[in-house]
Amino acid sequence: MKKRLAEIEKTSKLLEPGSQERLKIREQVIHYTEDFLNTIESKPAFVQSKENGVGLLKSPIQEEPVSIETILDLIHKNVDTPGLNPASGGHLGYIPGGGIYSSSLGDYMADITNRYAGLFFAGPGAVRMENMLIDWMANTIGYPKGFAGNLSSGGSIANLIAIVTARDSFDIKARDIEKTVIYATAHSHHCIDKAIRIAGLKEAIRRNITMDDCYKMQNEKLEQQIISDLKDGLKPFMIIASAGTTDVGAIDPLKSIGLLAEKYKLWYHIDGAYGAFFALTDEGRKKLEGMELSDSIVMDPHKGLFLPYGIGAVIIRKKELLYKSHFYAANYMQDALKAPEELSPAELSPELTKHFRGLRMWLPLKLHGVKPFRACLEEKLLLAKYFYLEIQKLGFEVGPEPELSVITFRYVPKNKKEDADKFNEMLINEIHKDGRVFLSSSRLNGNYILHLAILSFRTHLSTIDLTLQILENLVRNA
Ligand SMILES: *Cc1c(COP(=O)(O)O)cnc(C)c1O
Repeated sequence: MKKRLAEIEKTSKLLEPGSQERLKIREQVIHYTEDFLNTIESKPAFVQSKENGVGLLKSPIQEEPVSIETILDLIHKNVDTPGLNPASGGHLGYIPGGGIYSSSLGDYMADITNRYAGLFFAGPGAVRMENMLIDWMANTIGYPKGFAGNLSSGGSIANLIAIVTARDSFDIKARDIEKTVIYATAHSHHCIDKAIRIAGLKEAIRRNITMDDCYKMQNEKLEQQIISDLKDGLKPFMIIASAGTTDVGAIDPLKSIGLLAEKYKLWYHIDGAYGAFFALTDEGRKKLEGMELSDSIVMDPHKGLFLPYGIGAVIIRKKELLYKSHFYAANYMQDALKAPEELSPAELSPELTKHFRGLRMWLPLKLHGVKPFRACLEEKLLLAKYFYLEIQKLGFEVGPEPELSVITFRYVPKNKKEDADKFNEMLINEIHKDGRVFLSSSRLNGNYILHLAILSFRTHLSTIDLTLQILENLVRNA
């Protein structure tokens, strides 16, 4: 046995490179990432390719190692080149993400130290740090004390946690589901529908409340529907409002909806995955008034706080409800569950062992302070207003005035009105082919439209001017 141990220990120890070896591979990786960052402004935001990364498959996982140079080359050609570059300031499609550098250093440290952030007993500092960040977010939106929350992998899981908590707090049993009513609009994010289904509420009644001209939920229509459902013997359960829709960036009337939720004793959930962090700005805080009335809210630091992908957040107004839905005990957990000073992520979410996500958020907030985050968000609001004005000067039709940083628009050619949909599809194809900036398309009121969302921390005035110039060139002869 000892002979075999000696044999395999040598191989096993290959997983622990020494200081010199670490330096060597780290330098290669740093060189690669520095090159990525130093050239990002001249690199396209979108690359159409035939291979689409298939080269990876030609290099299968094998028993024998491969050099770091080969590995970085594989990544460069197959991963970091084809498709969308979400780190680019030219990413203006869907809802853009972030990728601030300091956050990567938080991840680097979290990965090396591998602190356990699931339970207070094992990682008291890591758990305190995560709870501290939840406190900071709850303060930002104006929640009163008594809340609890969780740093999830993203907004979708955060929404799921909120919906499950709402379901349990209303004690909805299988036999009740067909009479249970959920109120939202046709513009609520599709991850909400996914979460409702995963939470076992697929058979609940879903009411899409009529929206006004700016695509906001109509409060009066909501109340009429609740009254009529009550009359019909149904069980109104939950209102889901958006603090910034993906479609047009609209904020539902959060305050009046909150008052209705209170009046009819419904669970009030707000999906602020895109918009909630705008509350850090003066303008955003006013527009988002009413967020503090919700029973649960989702915010997405990998959107509105410009962090790299992999972090969302949910906050529940009453901590005992989140705890009741997610707490479980097991024999092998007996040490860990002895009267902790703080609630732990493992008791407040579906996860047990989890990535120490707190560090990738805490480190940048400490290192830069909140000020530049606030400025960056205000910059996005102003850039959206600017684009909205300028695009009209080029003869484009526009959707509602941007409430946050999403603008929808389309070009109707003068001589061939009936082909507007085709023309705008051509525009998006040309933009994708060009690749310097990336926009997405969508449908609004049955029309094919272009969708521009400004949320990358690397998007500045020059990016928006370039976008306007590209669009101007494309429609010049139309
Ligand atoms: C992005 C988004 C989501 C989903 O969040 P993920 O982080 O992508 O899982 C939900 N709602 C809205 C409004 C969003 O913009």
